[in-house]
Amino acid sequence: MRAEPAQQQRLLDLQALDTRLSQLDHRLRTLPERAEVDRLAREHQDVEDEVVRARTALSDLEREVTKAESDVQLVRDRADRDRARLESGTGSSKDLQALQHELESLARRQSTLEDEQLEVMERAEQAESELARAEERLAGVAEQLERATAQRDEVVGELTSQREEVERSREPVVGELPADLLALYDRIRATSGTGAAALSRRSCGGCQLELNTVELGRIRAADPDEVLRCEECRRILVRTPESGL
Ligand SMILES: [Zn+2]
Repeated sequence: MRAEPAQQQRLLDLQALDTRLSQLDHRLRTLPERAEVDRLAREHQDVEDEVVRARTALSDLEREVTKAESDVQLVRDRADRDRARLESGTGSSKDLQALQHELESLARRQSTLEDEQLEVMERAEQAESELARAEERLAGVAEQLERATAQRDEVVGELTSQREEVERSREPVVGELPADLLALYDRIRATSGTGAAALSRRSCGGCQLELNTVELGRIRAADPDEVLRCEECRRILVRTPESGL
């Protein structure tokens, strides 16, 4: 393959731009800002689950509190009725004695139920403060997540615009290159990562290996228009004033 020396030089410019694009793509893929957003999003999900659990526990306990209150009320109402009957003095002495007994047992029952009510109310209070703590944590994580997302978007935006700039400067360079040279470059780049390298101080800039005397002799003898390849890595080897020929 043949190409003017100036076109071969342009191929090195193109390679420099493509290397810059690969670096930007790599940075975009491996951004620590992205990992931080992912980590915080997972944490946010976990704390959100915690809030849901705490809310469910609280509403269960609130139902228990209501039930305990109505249980106590039932016993109180019954005792009130018994007392009213006792005070009215109607009925036989046997009836009145039975009422007295019932009132005593209702009093014991009420005391037990009130203890239970108090206990469930305390648990509901604890559940309430647990919910408040979880909600506070959730708000904190949400704020961190929002900040991290904004930071990530900023970095992604910055790198993306750098990428677009490189893409724009790539277009005219591509326009200057003959189609066959460009196709060869693209094919090598697809497998090796880079398609062209400068011959610099007798070494290939692609694989960094020093060329032997026979190779150097062949390159010295080659026509400047001839497109050379590195014998080791097969990349397009471009002669420069620093080639050391
Ligand atoms: Zn090489």
